[in-house]
Formats: sequence, C-alpha cells, structure tokens
Amino acid sequence: MIRVLSYVVALALLVAGAVWLADHPGTATVQWLGWRVQTTVPVLLGALLAIAAFLTWAFHLLAGLTRMPGRWADDRRDRRRRKGYLALTDGLAAAAAGQLGAARKLADRADKLLADPVLTRYLAVQTARLAGDADAAREHFNAMLERPETAVLGLRGLLDQALAKGDAETAVDLAVRARTISPADSWLADALFTQLVKLGRLHQAQDLVADARRRGAWPAAQANHRRALVLNERAARAAADGDSRSAVTFAKQALAAEPGLTAASLHLATMQAAAGQMRRAATVLEKAWARQPMPELARAYAALAPEDPPLQRARRLEKLAAARPGDAESRLALGEASLNAKLWGQARKHLLAAAELRPSAEPYRLLARLEREEYGNQAAAQAWLDKAAAAPPGPAWQCGACGAKAASWSLSCPNCGAIDGMNWVICPSSEPLRPAAEQGSFPASTAEIAQR
Ligand SMILES: [Zn+2]
Repeated sequence: MIRVLSYVVALALLVAGAVWLADHPGTATVQWLGWRVQTTVPVLLGALLAIAAFLTWAFHLLAGLTRMPGRWADDRRDRRRRKGYLALTDGLAAAAAGQLGAARKLADRADKLLADPVLTRYLAVQTARLAGDADAAREHFNAMLERPETAVLGLRGLLDQALAKGDAETAVDLAVRARTISPADSWLADALFTQLVKLGRLHQAQDLVADARRRGAWPAAQANHRRALVLNERAARAAADGDSRSAVTFAKQALAAEPGLTAASLHLATMQAAAGQMRRAATVLEKAWARQPMPELARAYAALAPEDPPLQRARRLEKLAAARPGDAESRLALGEASLNAKLWGQARKHLLAAAELRPSAEPYRLLARLEREEYGNQAAAQAWLDKAAAAPPGPAWQCGACGAKAASWSLSCPNCGAIDGMNWVICPSSEPLRPAAEQGSFPASTAEIAQR
C-alpha cells in the first residue's frame, strides 16, 4: 500500500516537473573543445540522464570482467571438493562392501581432490585393513595421532591391533591414553577393564571403575557390578596369600557393591567357616540362597559341618531350603540330603516335586538311585535313567561369549577367556548367547563414522 502510494507520488512529481519544464522551455548553450551546442533545457536534461545511465552500465560491465578469474577459480575448487567428497563416500562404501580395488582407486582420487589427510586418512586405513596390511594401517593410525580431531580414532585403531595380537600391556597403555581424551567412552573403559583384570592389576582396575562411573562411561549399576567383581578377585587373592582378614573385608565390600554376587558369598562363608564363625557363614549362605538357589551354595552349606552324620545334615539343610521353599533347587537339595540320610519317603517326595517343578536330568538320576537303594529295583531305576538321558540339562554357569558351560562361576571363561561372561542359566542352550568374536572398536562402516 505504502509502495503504491509512493509510486503515485513520484509519478505526480515527474508529471508536474515535465509540465513545468514544458511551460518554461528556455534555452541552454554548451561550448566545449571548439564545439558549440544550443538546445532547449528539457533536451539537455534528457541527454545528461542518458549519459549517466550509459556510464553506470559500462562501470558494472568492467567490474564484472575484472572479477571473472577469481570466480572461475572458486567454481573450480567447489567442483573439485564435490568430486573429492563423492570419491570419499564411494570409497568408504566400497571398503565396507569389501571391494579392495575400487576402494584403493577411490582413496587415491579422494586424496588428490581433497588434499586433506584428516578427511582421507580414514578411508586409507580401511583400505589397508581390507588388504590385510597391518603395517600400513599402523602407519595411518600413528599419523592420526598428530591431529587432535583424529587422535582418539588413531588410538582406538592401535588399541584394536594390540588386542588382536594379545599384547595386553600395550593395549593398557593405549587405552589409558585414549581415555585422557575421551573419558566417557564406555567401550574404551570396557577394553581397559578387561585388560587390567587379565593382567591381574586389580588395584588399577578398581580405580578405573570409580573413574568410569564419575566420568559417565558406565551407569551406576554396571560400575557397582564391576567394583564387586574386582573386590571379589582381591578377596580370592588375599585368601590364597593367607591374608584372611583382608579376604573377609574384600568379600564383604564386594557383597555390599552387589549383594547377588554368589562367588563373594562363597568366599566370605569359606573364610568365616575357617575362622570358626559357623553361624555367620551359614547366614551368608542362607542370604545368598534366598537370592538365587544354586548347588554350589548347598555344597558349601553342607561343608560347614563335614563331620555331621547324614541325618543331621539333612535336618540342617532344611534351614537353607526354607529361604526358598518352593524352588526346584531347594527340593532337589533336600531330596539328595534325604536320600543320603536314607529318609526314603522324604527323598521321594522332594525329588518328585523337583522333577515336576523343573524336569531335568538331575532329579531323574537321583530318583533312579532311590529306586536302587530303597527297593533294589533295577528296572525302575533304568526307567528313570532313560528319562534323565532324554531330559534337558539342569541350570549351569554358561559363558555368554562362547556358550561353554561350567559347574562353578569364574571371572574369566575357562574356555574362551572372556571376562565377566559367565551367567547362571536355568535352561542352558548349546548355542552361544552372543557371537564369540568381539567386534573391533574401530568403526567398520560408513554409517558408524557418520555418527561421529
Ligand atoms: Zn567363553
């Protein structure tokens, strides 16, 4: 509206000026360099306007011409950069697809076009890895250390190589260095923890747990779990060194960090029993049983008074089982103790209940023993044994990494050495719970580096 108004006003002023000039024609004379021009004032003004318009146009044309080479160079640079990025992403895709030849060609092209080693180094690394050239990859990783923006990637690459070689000392050094740059990286904290535990550097592992929690690398629950693992190892080591006081302290601290760590309960109860504190040891085992009934706990409970006659042991075990009366493991423990005490009726009742709660080989095998020992009935015993052979296995410790089963818990898998991989599995399968080969930390796909 305002624009329309201003046009109207300008037009009115122009028309008024033209009318005024027409009303006052007058003459003007210009004398210059021997020329003499005589004309009317409106014509002179028109000529001046035309000259001004021409000069403005000529000036713009000249300015455009002088800027031309710069703009042309800019365009060329932009085109090169675009082509460079295209070669880089295509190269990464080729590397991810395992096409070594294409990846190599595109890496060279990206290197030439972008002339930025920070950007192209990653593709060069992937190409070297694809070609199985560990030395070239190491060279690239080392070069990455020189720039702060790629230093962590370089350290992680070198760490991967150290882990693949099983060089724990170097891996620890590299992980510690990488953590100074990237302290909240949970993978780094995991890798460092594993290597420290493998090297038996428990003190350092304990410090790492506190630091990883403080820096947000691990959530509180995970940090507590790892703290309990380290303290439990320290308890075991102190016990082996004959330092039972420290062993008790560490085991108690481990249980405070994670009350469900059965191994710590077993350590503590064993140390207390050795010190003659039978009542305390029994309480520790009863508490552990209440959390998760396990044969190991029942065995330790029975071992608290190895001199007990079977009948007394069966009576004592009732106290342990009372913490989880309806559990198959409780019925199984009571059934076996009753069988040992020749309490046939009790044994049959508990074992049949256990078999019903959790049909598995163990109660069937004990029922076969019962048939043999109570009645000498070989045919009935064989029937139970046949059932046992066809039944699913009972609960066991199983490694999440390789699927290996074990009768007792250990921090590192006896089969594959994975740290903290053993889980108490009620229905163990023969399949590993997760792939055995740990994936490398160095991002293997373009999508992964895109997330960085
Ligand atoms: Zn394993």
